[in-house]
Amino acid sequence: MGVYIHIPFCEHKCPYCDFYSIVVGEADGFSRLVDSYLVSLRREALYYKDRWGDRPIRSIFLGGGTPSLLPPEKLAALLSFLRQELPCAAELEITMEANPHSLTPEGAAILAEAGLNRVSLGAQAFADELLRAIGRLHRVEQIHQAVCSLRQAGIENINLDLMYGLPGQGLEQWQDTLEKALALQPTHFSCYALTLEPDTPLFRWHERGLVQLPGEDEQVEMYNLARDLLRQAGYEHYEISNWCLPGWNCRHNLLYWQNEPYLGLGSGAAGYVGGYRYLNAPDVQGYIRAWEDGTPLYAECERLSREQEMDETMMLGMRLLAGVEEERFRRRFQVSFREVYEQAIAELAAQSLVEEKDGHLRVTEQGLLLENRVSAAFLR
Ligand code: SF4
Repeated sequence: MGVYIHIPFCEHKCPYCDFYSIVVGEADGFSRLVDSYLVSLRREALYYKDRWGDRPIRSIFLGGGTPSLLPPEKLAALLSFLRQELPCAAELEITMEANPHSLTPEGAAILAEAGLNRVSLGAQAFADELLRAIGRLHRVEQIHQAVCSLRQAGIENINLDLMYGLPGQGLEQWQDTLEKALALQPTHFSCYALTLEPDTPLFRWHERGLVQLPGEDEQVEMYNLARDLLRQAGYEHYEISNWCLPGWNCRHNLLYWQNEPYLGLGSGAAGYVGGYRYLNAPDVQGYIRAWEDGTPLYAECERLSREQEMDETMMLGMRLLAGVEEERFRRRFQVSFREVYEQAIAELAAQSLVEEKDGHLRVTEQGLLLENRVSAAFLR
């Protein structure tokens, strides 16, 4: 089992982002708010420990928001608490998302001391004009400094988050970003296309013609370029949007794609445990008040049926290039996916979107580009 912790605070709101977070400058008494929030996280962790405490924890993921915005000492204290209170495995992956400009060498050292061993850096692009165009506060130089700080602190496992399809970005600029990112030799890459989320400023600017974005064909070319360059550089493409050096995949995210359980702690966090899928209400103050009374504040909480769990296992698993292992599926559900999804698999195979290989059902090269269609076929 893994633990996801949502830190819903940001320095400012990026114009394309629809994640739940509140802007620090707009929160009264931010330091006190953070302290109360961290106390609530501890209460929530103990609440689940009482219910599901016997399952070993193999990964902790601090996401957001911007976890690196919080004082490192406070995050370190939280990590120490979790490691002490939860049944953590000896080999524990602890990841934190960080914005390059909010990482200092001292902060990295404090967090490394507390067990942090993986950092996902929101680098996004290696051109200042592109970073400016998407409203990021950091600049390219700070990405280099952040990587340097992490390595000095002994944190070698670094993911670079990159985005393509940015306003005014062409294929050449994307290639330039990839090459500069590769020169830093991180262990892992995540490459996502910029998507227009409704109710964001970028969406509205685009609607009014104030921002031009690369078209769909260009986005596909950018994706294919990432695949080629990263593969040539020795990175394994293991999930649609993720690449790693051999052996350096993200264990925590693998739990999601393999539809394994994880606790979600914090306001706006999602969790999946004991057959329940839940979403904590995106309301920091409400979350703190609820934990003063010792109860969760869910926006949604649903007991999944066996059919839903099977469908989700297939839908998420098909994002992995290795696909879904037939034996693993059978062990979990006591039935073969061939029996349950006979028609869907036959139709997808007839369109050359999936194939069976070495006991796995997986997407083909063609299916990779149409993954949404592949996943949807498993939803009954
Ligand atoms: S820093 Fe990350 S979470 Fe915060 S607004 Fe920007 S993209 Fe969203």
